Amino acid sequence: MIDFNLTDTDNKILDYVRTEALVARKYARHYDENEAEFPPEELDEAKDFPGVWSLMGERNDEDTSQSVIGMLITMAETWGDYSVRMRKGRGVGLGNAALGAAGTEEQRAKWGGLLLSMAITEPGCGSDPSLVQTTAVLDEETDEWVINGEKIFVTTGCRADGVVMWATLDRSAGRAGIKSFLVEKETPGFQVSHKEKKLGIRADDTATYVFTDCRIPRGNLLGGKEEIPKAGSGGFRGVMKTFNITRPMTAAFGLGMSKAALDFTREQLEQAGVDLSYGTGTQGQSAVAAKFQRLEALQEAAELTVCHAAWLSDQGQPNNLEASISKAKGGSSVREITQGCIELLGPMGISREHLLEKWFRDVRITDIYEGTGQIQNLIIARTILEYDRSQLK
Ligand SMILES: Cc1cc2nc3c(=O)[nH]c(=O)nc-3n(C[C@H](O)[C@H](O)[C@H](O)COP(=O)(O)OP(=O)(O)OC[C@H]3O[C@@H](n4cnc5c(N)ncnc54)[C@H](O)[C@@H]3O)c2cc1C
Repeated sequence: MIDFNLTDTDNKILDYVRTEALVARKYARHYDENEAEFPPEELDEAKDFPGVWSLMGERNDEDTSQSVIGMLITMAETWGDYSVRMRKGRGVGLGNAALGAAGTEEQRAKWGGLLLSMAITEPGCGSDPSLVQTTAVLDEETDEWVINGEKIFVTTGCRADGVVMWATLDRSAGRAGIKSFLVEKETPGFQVSHKEKKLGIRADDTATYVFTDCRIPRGNLLGGKEEIPKAGSGGFRGVMKTFNITRPMTAAFGLGMSKAALDFTREQLEQAGVDLSYGTGTQGQSAVAAKFQRLEALQEAAELTVCHAAWLSDQGQPNNLEASISKAKGGSSVREITQGCIELLGPMGISREHLLEKWFRDVRITDIYEGTGQIQNLIIARTILEYDRSQLK
């Protein structure tokens, strides 16, 4: 049975998160304009709020499944602001998702409490992660991996306690030679070089990492499988599994902001006397109302693709295709929605008096990181048409 209703407990949790998010939103402009500053780990107001975990304990089997409510909470948080939060959660970096997907039980227990970034991208390797040049060489005498290379655009890079990073054991083996490793901060040879300046999500922490003869214990290879598969890319597929949960999550980040843009636009249009009521025929509706409602429909459709991908994950079903669909649909929708809101509000849309122009800049990243929109469309087409990488590239 398909049921799109949320339970009372789910709604209570989401209302609570939105209340916190509105407090965080008050600081959004400050950190946008002062890019070199990091928002605090915890806002002063946090003492007045018990935290969402106090409510999560009220959930039971009747409530919306774990990953789905996680996506809805994410949207409610970024509805306030992408980077400023009441409390920065520990253990919720992209690297934590990678640890969950590819780590052994022992590794998850050991590092689960750390905030982990994920570093794949390099100066010569972005959309095609099989081009990773960073190397990991085993020193059998000391039982250590020796890492050398550079990683760029690492989200949560400065603040994280460690990183899940991709390196190749053998460049000639291509994708099969790539493995993921956990490197903790303060490891000699691991340098965090700077915070990136950006168009949007300016308060966000985006760093560059340099590894120079960086030695980590042999047990830091995620999943522990050191052998390079001879045929196919089985090992690589293992590390790629991370994206099945992080891609819907990145779409959710963007959809929280586009929802904020829609809510602001609705408020302004209604104040200006525009009738946005539903149910009137198209002949009786203004072009402004028709356009606004089309943007709302786009938002709902994109949100549903995110929930579908997360729900499949909760059912233990494969969701590779749906994760890419949610990322592609989310990435293009949030751009169209925020741009459409600016068009509807005219000069107010681009004024720095309001946050709409910021949401427009902030959502742009949704279609870039975790695989661009073009790459998601490639994955979707390959999966549906049953083509392999060599047949469709
Ligand atoms: C703010 C920010 C945060 C980021 N966070 C992280 C992070 O935490 N960890 C991490 O590892 N990386 C991160 N990234 C990097 C991001 O994942 C890459 O920028 C992205 O994967 C694209 O890679 P690229 O920039 O090298 O572009 P390229 O791969 O050079 O692509 C350039 C353009 O060509 C298109 N293109 C490429 N190949 C094809 C093809 N086969 N068919 C059609 N079009 C194609 C792309 O879609 C894109 O439009 C982040 C980036 C930013 C901006």
